[in-house]
Amino acid sequence: MIDNTSLQRSLCDLSLGFTAYHAWAVQARHERLYNIARLLEAASNVKRIRAELAFRKSHLVANCAKNIQQALTGLEPQTVMTGKVTKINSLLYTLLQRASQALSEGRDLRFDELGDLAICTSCGELYEGAGPEACLLCGTVREGFLPFTCNDAMGTRGPHGIMGLLGCAANVIERLFDGLSEEILSAPAGPYNVSLKEMVGHLIAFDEVFRERAWLILETNSPVISDYNPPHLAEAEPYRYKSSEEVLEAFRESRGRTLSLLRGLTNAAWHRVGKHEVYGIIPLTHQGNWIISHERSHLIDMAQMRHNLLIEHNVKQAHELPPQLVPHLPEEE
Ligand SMILES: [Zn+2]
Repeated sequence: MIDNTSLQRSLCDLSLGFTAYHAWAVQARHERLYNIARLLEAASNVKRIRAELAFRKSHLVANCAKNIQQALTGLEPQTVMTGKVTKINSLLYTLLQRASQALSEGRDLRFDELGDLAICTSCGELYEGAGPEACLLCGTVREGFLPFTCNDAMGTRGPHGIMGLLGCAANVIERLFDGLSEEILSAPAGPYNVSLKEMVGHLIAFDEVFRERAWLILETNSPVISDYNPPHLAEAEPYRYKSSEEVLEAFRESRGRTLSLLRGLTNAAWHRVGKHEVYGIIPLTHQGNWIISHERSHLIDMAQMRHNLLIEHNVKQAHELPPQLVPHLPEEE
């Protein structure tokens, strides 16, 4: 419960602002005022990010199992403001109960426990599976639904986008290393208290697991993809004691092998499938999105670590505004 009135007030204001600006942005796009829509969408995200900060500050975010329990017992965010008035529709309630059951067994929901989801964009009604031909509540056709499919759970990037991101990672890492001494590159820092060299070791471990899976999907028929997770960050420790040249070379070597396995694949090959223990029948693109989303979040961690290390070690930078080291994700391709 929130006891701080001003925090409660700002959480309310920000949540409303997020919705308002988003709705105004949708309207602007509808009127083909695309730059104004962009402005309004950006403003909406300002509100969203700040609302989330205020929400966390109010101690309303616990671990996933506790959050699901909160949702099930009707302690949804709005009831914090207005008292217990939650009326969760019965499908959402059922799905949340399934999640709660899986979490009590210490695991994620499996594909056979949570199908594709679709939301009617006109009225917000939730459907599991493909949904009806038209919304049962408001009659909007299925084409107007917003899908949340199993296949897209890892991201929706296609072969071109996946290859582009896999291909530029080595250069991004090289730029992140640039200008830092061996000592700084081996110094523990950042959110995981490991060095930049170990972060790269961790990315190499992921690359190897991804390449193995990609090979299985390409070379065998519907292989089983185990839910085995690649080695934890802590296991990359040996990389701390390697030279930066060795670390970069190890990454380039691994990524080079991955890229040559995937280069020139047809669209059909990218849509060959494996049977993942948790995600069900998944195409190679699913695993491609898996590695690039993991890699990207760690590259951003590394840019932050670099920034903090430069300040901590008082290293002067050549440029007043250094170039952006981890590029923004290009538009969907
Ligand atoms: Zn509807």
